[in-house]
Amino acid sequence: MNKKTFTLGIFGGGQLGKFLVLAAKKLNIKTFVFTDSLDSPAIYYCDNFIISNYENKKQLDLFIKDIDLATFEFENIPFKTLDYVEKKIKVLPKPSIIKILQDRLKEKTFLNSIGVRTTEFYYLKKINKKILNNNIFPVLVKTIRLGYDGKGQILFKNKKNFLKHSFDNKEYIIEKLVDFKKEISIIISRNKTKSVCFDAFENLHKHQILQRSHTPANISSKLNNEAKGIAKKIADKLNYIGTMCVEFFVTRKNELLVNEIAPRVHNSGHLTMNAYNISQFESHIRAVCNLKTKTPKKTQKAIMYNILGSAIKKYRSKTMMKNEFFYDYGKKEIKEKRKMGHLTKIF
Ligand code: AMP
Repeated sequence: MNKKTFTLGIFGGGQLGKFLVLAAKKLNIKTFVFTDSLDSPAIYYCDNFIISNYENKKQLDLFIKDIDLATFEFENIPFKTLDYVEKKIKVLPKPSIIKILQDRLKEKTFLNSIGVRTTEFYYLKKINKKILNNNIFPVLVKTIRLGYDGKGQILFKNKKNFLKHSFDNKEYIIEKLVDFKKEISIIISRNKTKSVCFDAFENLHKHQILQRSHTPANISSKLNNEAKGIAKKIADKLNYIGTMCVEFFVTRKNELLVNEIAPRVHNSGHLTMNAYNISQFESHIRAVCNLKTKTPKKTQKAIMYNILGSAIKKYRSKTMMKNEFFYDYGKKEIKEKRKMGHLTKIF
């Protein structure tokens, strides 16, 4: 980054995009948001925006013309779009990495190939359902692409129900349900030469949606370091540039299994805005713009609660305590289970 006015293009205009825009502003970086939704919180804070579907080449060309580099807040931007943009301008993290991480089968196969453990999994199309071992049940069947927050997931407690189910034409992966002790995540930022890592966040999900995260995670420092080591290994092997989140299950035997990788800033890292010397958002901007990295240091203990759907109304009129930080994403439409805001409490 050496131009006087550098413009970062961001695909996606949700709350992650909004916080990225605000972090970029702090670093005097201009932002241009490309989103496919009118109800996009980030458009009120960026310097410029386009609302269009992600396949519109005319709009993509206008976007490319005005930016120096593109990144994204969400990994489900069509690969074709990222690939088209990359032919004309740098996109970080690299679309070739996103292609692996957008696909649960490719992602898990890659992880196992570098010696990182995941839960037992099978590609639905490639197995003989009838000879599937009874021991693998209960299982979660997940769509290979475009699933998040539990979308596209079905639980089968036993083989009988599984065999009865008629699957549609989508591609699916079968995963053994992990009887985990807890879930943790590691957020890591890597530029060309160096990576920096936040300590593990401990996460609680309900109906596959993150409810709350806290720091420090209630785990040993050995396990914390082990998780950080795995995240670094993944980032290095991918030659990853930017911020990513590695989500883990901690098994009853204190083993770490990677559930998935989010190649972007992540909901479990929202509390870094109040509990660390640097937020995950600034860390991402620094990594992709090749600015000096900052080692994350915890300044507070904290807990973050997601605010879903109509629960936002009660927070909008609540008086906050001094140690409470309420973020209203400013989304126009309230939908059940939609992430509308979050509250972080520091201690
Ligand atoms: P995912 O969409 O794969 O990130 O799943 C969201 C959440 O669902 C996870 O954070 C877990 O709480 C739960 N989950 C997903 N896969 C499994 C699994 N194989 N075993 C147990 N819980 C799971």
